Amino acid sequence: LIEFRDVWKIYQMGEVQVDALKNVCIEIEHGEFTAIIGPSGSGKSTMMNLVGCLDVPSKGDIFLKSRNIADMTESDLSTLRGKTIGFVFQQYNLIPGMTALENVLLPLEIQEVEDDIALEKATEALELVGLSDKLSNRPSQLSGGQQQRVSIARSLACDPELILADEPTGALDSKTGRDVMGILYRLWKEKGKTIVMVTHDMDLAQYAARHIVLKDGMVVRDEINDNSSKNEDQNNNIPKKESLV
Ligand code: ATP
Ligand code: MG
Repeated sequence: LIEFRDVWKIYQMGEVQVDALKNVCIEIEHGEFTAIIGPSGSGKSTMMNLVGCLDVPSKGDIFLKSRNIADMTESDLSTLRGKTIGFVFQQYNLIPGMTALENVLLPLEIQEVEDDIALEKATEALELVGLSDKLSNRPSQLSGGQQQRVSIARSLACDPELILADEPTGALDSKTGRDVMGILYRLWKEKGKTIVMVTHDMDLAQYAARHIVLKDGMVVRDEINDNSSKNEDQNNNIPKKESLV
């Protein structure tokens, strides 16, 4: 689904050059749940911005669904960003003046989905994250965890193949963070979504089945995380559907 071939990202700040990513080669298959881990400044967000086609590499090639993004037109890219990829941000990025339902409807309206179908999809997405009873609440009338669930529902609205989450639990306490992670886990397990997330928290990284570790812009480890399925066996920390609703 995603392939980085010798990818470099170099930021030029006046005289100073920052090599934010160096010679990164990775492949992420359809249906994987990957955590990108690494210290502050190691290049995690830079990598996510490249995967999400929000930025372009300085050197090297990125392939999404076997297509080199360098060869895509602006309209191909905006279709990719709108339909294939769902974004979840640390700070939720919800629109304060809109209700939960309206926030989730927004991407569907942008994609010009018919009103009744949009309503159905938005309601379904909010139900999936356990917020059927909060459709009319504005963000200020929701807890942090609920706001992040609205933002996950928004990312799901257009039924993307790939969900990108940069520190989705960064603004949440650890219990709420685990609940939100449990939702991402279920989207992977039950809905077959490909998920790439960034986290600082090694406990939360245990939900993911693969760990890519960055340091100083380089991939220093890339391994399968056996604890992900262990978590499931013991039902350790992974909220059951009922407990989310
Ligand atoms: P954090 O955990 O703190 O979010 P990160 O791993 O996400 O860190 P990045 O944001 O990817 O780190 O930054 C990697 C490096 O690139 C850092 O040294 C940062 O200062 C630099 N950098 C990031 N964005 C820019 C930019 N737009 N212009 C210049 N330098 C940048
Ligand atoms: Mg970051």
